[in-house]
Amino acid sequence: MNTPRFKLSMSALIVASTLALSACEAEIAIDTTDSAQATKTITAKDANAFIAKTEKELSALYLESSRAEWIYANFITHDTSALSAEVNRKMTETVVRLANQAAQFDELELDYDARRKLNKLKLALTLPAPQDEDKTAQLSTIVAELGGLYGKGKYCKDDGSCLSLGDMTSKMATSRDYNELLDLWQGWRQISKPMRPLYEQQVTLTNEGAKELGYTDTGAMWRSKYDMPADDFTKELDRIWGQVKPLYNALHCHVRAKLGEKYGTDKVAQDEPIPAHLLGNMWAQAWGNIYDVVAPENADPGYDVTELLAKNNYDELKMVKGAETFFTSMGFEPLPETFYERSLFVKPKDRDVQCHASAWNIDSKDDLRIKMCIQRTGEEFSVIHHELGHNFYQRAYNKQPLFYQESANDGFHEAIGDTIALSVTPGYLKEIGLLEQVPDESKDIGLLMKMALDKVAFVPFSLMVDQWRWQVFSGQVKPQDYNKAWWELREKYQGVQAPIARSEDDFDPGAKYHVPGNTPYTRYFLAHILQFEFHRSLCEIAGNDKAIHRCSIYNSKEAGDKLNAMLEIGSSRPWQEALESITGKPQMDATAMLDYFAPLQRYLDEQNKGRNCGW
Ligand SMILES: [Zn+2]
Repeated sequence: MNTPRFKLSMSALIVASTLALSACEAEIAIDTTDSAQATKTITAKDANAFIAKTEKELSALYLESSRAEWIYANFITHDTSALSAEVNRKMTETVVRLANQAAQFDELELDYDARRKLNKLKLALTLPAPQDEDKTAQLSTIVAELGGLYGKGKYCKDDGSCLSLGDMTSKMATSRDYNELLDLWQGWRQISKPMRPLYEQQVTLTNEGAKELGYTDTGAMWRSKYDMPADDFTKELDRIWGQVKPLYNALHCHVRAKLGEKYGTDKVAQDEPIPAHLLGNMWAQAWGNIYDVVAPENADPGYDVTELLAKNNYDELKMVKGAETFFTSMGFEPLPETFYERSLFVKPKDRDVQCHASAWNIDSKDDLRIKMCIQRTGEEFSVIHHELGHNFYQRAYNKQPLFYQESANDGFHEAIGDTIALSVTPGYLKEIGLLEQVPDESKDIGLLMKMALDKVAFVPFSLMVDQWRWQVFSGQVKPQDYNKAWWELREKYQGVQAPIARSEDDFDPGAKYHVPGNTPYTRYFLAHILQFEFHRSLCEIAGNDKAIHRCSIYNSKEAGDKLNAMLEIGSSRPWQEALESITGKPQMDATAMLDYFAPLQRYLDEQNKGRNCGW
């Protein structure tokens, strides 16, 4: 949720270019025998000149693009849509052209920064296109068709009535009717059947493009963004998942038992994966919506932040100012005046806008904004803290060169927003005068359960999406097994199963936006692990002496200094160094998540006594 304004990674659908290099120029980088003569004429000086020119060209284009997109998102009309599409097309073409040119310096000895910047440029392509005009056009068409199939997707019933994904999302959150949920679940999955042949072709084409850039396949290219060999990165993810798994298994066991009580153990077998349609979410990726089914007894915290906000006359502006105070209390400079002049906080009555909360960095300096149709609820108050986390990150790295103006890796941006939101605790609400008394610890189980249903349940899902894609890109999973492999991974990692028989006529991966949308997913896994690490370490630095789920880093200048120092690095150094600067260790460590949920783990172990866990 809450897309920040990424730099190079923002063009998620980069594929096509009519300005692609001619085959002859491309060979300079690819064919080492024939091009030996050509490469001799290219020097490090040429590389540096290319980088300088590229930074200038892209800076200008980013500014143009940010403005066009801001206007489109805030005033949705036929014309603003056309202008935004046009600048997007220009951006795509430019990055494809520059990324392919960057490959000509592959064999050169370059200094750290030059090599790092060129790599970033090359890896900015999510779906590299082959250097062939017809194939490039073909790939471009496929991307648009896949996007269209998802975006226009509806479930139309026999009586002629149709449901949008939004309608179905709301119903799945609240319905507790087994058959109604099943109907919605299978209904939405009709939309992705026609995607299969397109997806298959897309994989072939983009793999060809990745090979031309020097990667074995597109998945390997995606994994090359992490400052370590692609295979080591895969092993690292497995190691971290191994740390989280006992907590996930305990949560899974408890949730399955409660669902068994609710729907009957004939429908929710107690030794099998959970049917995927019963978890309150179309993809069973976050389970917070079924909190009512699993809520611990006597764990109501006795207050409601939404009511507290109303009682204390918090309007939208006051909510934003309150969240800004969180950051200034840690020593961050206040946001610039233009933030308040140019942001959107309230849904306009007279026009269409994109209401999905997002944080923007318009000019790569200090023109920061959020765009959000704020509702006066406790949840939205946390979301504002999260969005401002993006803005403070964006401002912290604004002195870096353009290529480094992004988070340390693509998981860090979301992790920072969420780290701040983890500090919106009952204790913090008391400190800012919203809450009179912090409930005693016996009420923490409710809050922890709610959070675990969203954040712990999400971990295996966020891992398996790209496991599937990597196997598809590498050819380990063949097209005739696409759906089978998807469900094998969902069962293996999540312990959920399709509620009705699936076949290779179906293409269930396509029913999840990020697959037809070609957005890598591992970033969300990283963000979920990292946020607890940052929280634990910053709490330590702040001198916290409470359980870490009760800690807030509000008011801690020491934590603020440390955080700001890491944010300022941007992506100029390997992310492991950024991580180490706060946690003291260059490796990720999911024990922070386990520490945070320790009271819940004890509760779950108690509840699960005598139950048959696992699947
Ligand atoms: Zn976000």
